[in-house]
Amino acid sequence: MLMHEVLVVGGGLAGLMAALVASQKADVAVLSKIYPTRSHSGAAQGGFNAALGEDDSIESHIFDTVKGSDYLGDQDAVEVLCSEGPEVILELERMGVPWTRTPEGRVAQRSLGGAGFPRACFAADFSGHVVLHTLFEQVLRRGIKIYPEWHLVELLVEDGQVAGVLAYDLARARLEVIRSKAVILATGGYGRAFAKTTNAHANTGDGMAIAYRAGAVLSDMEFVQFHPTTLYGTNILISEAARGEGGYLRNYDGERFMVHYAPQKMELAPRDVVSRAIFKEIKEGRGFEGQYVHLDLTHLGEALVAERLPQVRDLAIRYAGVDPARAPMPIEPAQHYSMGGVRTDVWGMTSLPGLLAAGEVANVSVHGANRLGGNSLLETVVFGRRAGHRAAQLARQEPWPTLSAATITRAYESWSSLLAGRGQGVQEDSTFAIRQEMTNLMTNQVGVFRVGSELEDAVNRLAVLKERYQRLKAPGGMQPFNYALMDYLEVGYLLDLCEVIARGALRRTESRGAHYRLDYPQRDDQNWLCHTFVRRGEDGPEFSNGPVKITRYAPQERGY
Ligand SMILES: Cc1cc2nc3c(=O)[nH]c(=O)nc-3n(C[C@H](O)[C@H](O)[C@H](O)COP(=O)(O)OP(=O)(O)OC[C@H]3O[C@@H](n4cnc5c(N)ncnc54)[C@H](O)[C@@H]3O)c2cc1C
Repeated sequence: MLMHEVLVVGGGLAGLMAALVASQKADVAVLSKIYPTRSHSGAAQGGFNAALGEDDSIESHIFDTVKGSDYLGDQDAVEVLCSEGPEVILELERMGVPWTRTPEGRVAQRSLGGAGFPRACFAADFSGHVVLHTLFEQVLRRGIKIYPEWHLVELLVEDGQVAGVLAYDLARARLEVIRSKAVILATGGYGRAFAKTTNAHANTGDGMAIAYRAGAVLSDMEFVQFHPTTLYGTNILISEAARGEGGYLRNYDGERFMVHYAPQKMELAPRDVVSRAIFKEIKEGRGFEGQYVHLDLTHLGEALVAERLPQVRDLAIRYAGVDPARAPMPIEPAQHYSMGGVRTDVWGMTSLPGLLAAGEVANVSVHGANRLGGNSLLETVVFGRRAGHRAAQLARQEPWPTLSAATITRAYESWSSLLAGRGQGVQEDSTFAIRQEMTNLMTNQVGVFRVGSELEDAVNRLAVLKERYQRLKAPGGMQPFNYALMDYLEVGYLLDLCEVIARGALRRTESRGAHYRLDYPQRDDQNWLCHTFVRRGEDGPEFSNGPVKITRYAPQERGY
């Protein structure tokens, strides 16, 4: 049996930052289902928010974030995020991140949606990529043990305390127990629950679902972010940086239609506002072919597009056959980010002792009902750092938790039977068919615009998909790199999360941030200025409400 004082699950920005910090005081290992440098963080283009500018302030960053969250963000957590932003950006620089510079040599910053100042620090439009590689270099330099292509499949819980994990080593087709004093989940989001998404194939919400199955509380799962500008058809992200550098959104008549929806912020209104505006334009007949609108960068000039947006340009040329320096890009909204997640405090502690979480998998509630561009990358490093610190502290102070032979045997036996190909198997059904129906259902009925009757129908149809899933024969077998088995497991995680998202959306009878109910179009602070908590019960998800922490800013009407 393997043992590490701190086990970090996930090799993206949150996981690597947590591992680096924890390794200063504890024995740490990183487990990742894909090689760490392939983590989804590497796709992030726009940048990391931090109030570094001379005219900017931490106060202003806090206010923008609280307002952007439609007053659902916990203000104590938002204060931590924004206050620690500047120092973490400088810490990354000391590690070797080559931030783009102003002509005077300062860290350059660009505007992203919902921000009062240019606040996003960036490295051209490869921001996530360069920071991920810098952190990975540091992890290698410290000699931190990595288990690449190992999948977390279960958290081992003894007397209510997480005492380790059961993992599946894809290359050796073997189950392994890793004992641990503290497990940090940094497994990212669940974007692949939706047919139209900017997220990588690996984003299947594993950590969220596994924590939920183990008894952890999830929160605010009904809040799903849809990014306004993805390439029509492929849903490859066209970063908000493109609008931050001055890009315009135009409808079929060539009009900058945002003037009707957010006359002050225009294209740089928050994502929930812009996504709804685009769909409204299309629905009312002002889109192209009834399907998309244009993102126009042609007025910015080739030199700026080449220098500041090289990846955007390359993606548009390769995947849409359009050079954005010369012609507008066809774009449509798609799922992008999971605001909800495993509930944590500001040190990453979850409701399960021994389990911490950071990054997109977590809900410390800095984004509330709608995340601002640039705040998620910041969240990964600020709260990854805090979780690493806290986990190392636990490793120093706490004895090894009990992990009995009975718990290990039960987990091994249940997973071994699955690997042997458990289930009846129904010839005409497949993981693929279930995944396709589930993702289409989520995009069509639990998307940007929601309505009670469709949500109810989605909940019922998801229950049928779950029953069909239970009857599938698991594509087990002990051969290495059994991706069919991984697909099967991932669809199981997603089904659990879809149920929680759809039920949560049905339950919340108001519109707030990214959760927009056509049948309840107003925000309702009297009844719904609260978090949604959900725990797995005997008969499915059990929901409750919890208070939002309001320290400085009382809720106001949110206009842009
Ligand atoms: C295209 C795109 C661009 C973006 N641009 C920006 C931006 O400019 N600014 C911004 O603030 N935000 C941006 N975001 C959001 C931001 O990039 C992500 O929220 C953030 O990178 C998530 O980091 P993470 O460390 O939490 O997870 P990830 O980087 O997703 O890493 C998850 C890790 O968990 C591992 N893992 C998952 N499941 C398992 C399992 N079962 N067992 C073992 N390991 C597992 C994976 O291998 C991976 O290493 C963007 C998102 C997208 C989709």
